[in-house]
Amino acid sequence: MISVVLPCFNEDPVLREAYRRLAQVADATPETPFEFIFVDDGSSDATPAVLHALSLADARVRGIRLSRNFGQQVATTAGLEHASGDAVVLMDADLQDPPEIVVQMLARWREGYHVVYAERTDRAGESAFKLWSAKAFYNFVNRVSQVRIPPDTGDFRLMDRQVVDALLRMPERDRFLRGMVSWVGFRQVAIPYQREARFAGETKYPLLKMIRFAADGILSFSFVPLRLAVWTGFFALGLAFLGIVYALLLRFFFDPSHWVRGWASTFVAILFMGGVQLVSLGIIGEYVGRIYGEVKQRPLYFVRERFGFGDAPRRDRSNERVKD
Ligand code: UDP
Ligand code: MG
Repeated sequence: MISVVLPCFNEDPVLREAYRRLAQVADATPETPFEFIFVDDGSSDATPAVLHALSLADARVRGIRLSRNFGQQVATTAGLEHASGDAVVLMDADLQDPPEIVVQMLARWREGYHVVYAERTDRAGESAFKLWSAKAFYNFVNRVSQVRIPPDTGDFRLMDRQVVDALLRMPERDRFLRGMVSWVGFRQVAIPYQREARFAGETKYPLLKMIRFAADGILSFSFVPLRLAVWTGFFALGLAFLGIVYALLLRFFFDPSHWVRGWASTFVAILFMGGVQLVSLGIIGEYVGRIYGEVKQRPLYFVRERFGFGDAPRRDRSNERVKD
């Protein structure tokens, strides 16, 4: 069986169409059973109602309703935990990832690849800023971290059961799934596709959320920011050493009218050192905050309701209130 996991946050204008296109793909390959796992990430629109209706009409549709908005990465993780397929496809619900590509993914998977990720050759309907910032981000991440995250890929990918189980054994809170999938290894292959424009609705990633997501990507996979703080510290120390020699020379070998002047150099040094120290503290703070988050060991998410799972095995029923 193949599981398709779709995180949805206020996606009611696209869901029926997304389901229709997915069902078309699944119907065209009758020898392969499918399940579609829609994870409602605390939507405030009609998303849960639409999902209920879809799951009543089609036994392949399953729904997980989270207790609030936990973010796409956590919602996707919830979907992965509930997926029982031999392979799992991750896909956005807004039809930017065309479901028809899944057929090609399945073919590569059957050839023996564990991860088939979709690489965008073209991105329709996205701003120049988003394209530029994404490129800069992946360049930076690949420079500073040990794992190579292929640029121009999102979370749209197929993963073999072995990879899914590996991911589920990584309990970290700041989940940057595309990096985690690269990190686990196995045989991975890319297939090109054209990313379409959003079918309807708006992006759920305003600038600040994107920055946060990018920070997760960098901080979860690299200690380079900490080293950067050390290097800047050494650089400042070097400057300070030159400054000290200069100050002592003036003090002992030149006449006082020279060495009492120097307001500018003092001022510059204080500002510079203060800046370096605050930035370094901030970097350490980012890591410490993440350690704090991990140490609390809270569950990643809570489920408000599940539907459409029928007799399928469930991993965790502790916080569940079954509705149907
Ligand atoms: N999403 C989610 N929770 C969030 C934000 C986004 O489940 O807090 C889902 C969203 O519904 C969509 C996918 O993640 O299916 C990708 O989001 P979006 O299309 O807004 O991102 P973009 O394509 O603009 O980067
Ligand atoms: Mg999108």
